[in-house]
Amino acid sequence: MLSENLKWYFPSSVSQAVELIQKPGVILHAGGTRILKTQSKNIVGLVDVGNLKLNYIKFKNNSFHIGSATTFNDVIKFSKENNCLKMLGAALSQAASTPLRNRITVGGSLKDFPLWSNLYAPLITIDAKIEIRGDKSGIYSVEEYVSDGIIKSKHIIKEIIVPENENIIWKVKRFALLKFEYPLFNIAIAFKMNGKIIEDAKLVITGVKNRFKRFKKAEKFLTGQKLSNNLSDEIEKFIEPKFVSDYKYSASYKETVAKVYFNELLSEIIRENL
Ligand SMILES: Cc1cc2nc3c(=O)[nH]c(=O)nc-3n(C[C@H](O)[C@H](O)[C@H](O)COP(=O)(O)OP(=O)(O)OC[C@H]3O[C@@H](n4cnc5c(N)ncnc54)[C@H](O)[C@@H]3O)c2cc1C
Repeated sequence: MLSENLKWYFPSSVSQAVELIQKPGVILHAGGTRILKTQSKNIVGLVDVGNLKLNYIKFKNNSFHIGSATTFNDVIKFSKENNCLKMLGAALSQAASTPLRNRITVGGSLKDFPLWSNLYAPLITIDAKIEIRGDKSGIYSVEEYVSDGIIKSKHIIKEIIVPENENIIWKVKRFALLKFEYPLFNIAIAFKMNGKIIEDAKLVITGVKNRFKRFKKAEKFLTGQKLSNNLSDEIEKFIEPKFVSDYKYSASYKETVAKVYFNELLSEIIRENL
């Protein structure tokens, strides 16, 4: 249950919001989908992000800038209407349900980083960056944001910066036994191509131990290779996701399914682009 004396704040600037969240128990409220679910008694104040003008998607300096208050469905719509940000659009359209995607924001989702996140894997594979204000103000790669513990500091995410790259081939996939279940893991694969040669490869999974895993040995092996049918079998040995068992599924079950999914996705991406 949320506290009965919960106080709401409606700042009109990012700097005011940063100041407010320095108070103990005062946190940002974006889509509210996580806050409503956890209803932590420790929350004494909520800072609404609605007046901060952070709901936008702009293109400048060869990158897309997605304001943190932009919802999943805003991104999906923008992607379809402008024929861009396709990998992100496809990944986010697999998340939750339409009403939830109308609420869930990219900023709340990044700070929250649930095990079932549809956002993280594609963002890491496409080298996205995040601009934050507050403790540790700056621009960080999505990977640094998590690995260096910046995610735990008191800050507001201002925007996500996604570089435009037309020479990318990609696949995303979530795994849930039932469509309406939280996915157990999400996979994203992206190859930067020069003709039929893989110039750079990124293979990422979320939902695993330590939140996410990049398969760097597989990426190294693939870089510089020409697309060919046997690549997916050759990198199988490098794909070793580690999961934690939960009340429904054992770690080894999830590991087996994840390996199969990687193999399938790699075969598809190669077949479609040979
Ligand atoms: C039934 C259900 C199913 C779901 N399924 C999926 C799914 O399949 N895939 C998926 O990706 N997600 C899914 N979600 C969403 C996910 O679980 C979180 O609820 C969501 O990511 C939180 O986003 P929000 O905008 O609602 O954040 P809020 O609930 O408003 O906030 C979450 C946290 O982020 C902080 N925060 C908010 N905005 C910012 C900001 N700009 N900067 C810094 N910190 C901020 C808040 O203080 C809070 O700590 C689902 C949610 C529900 C309820």
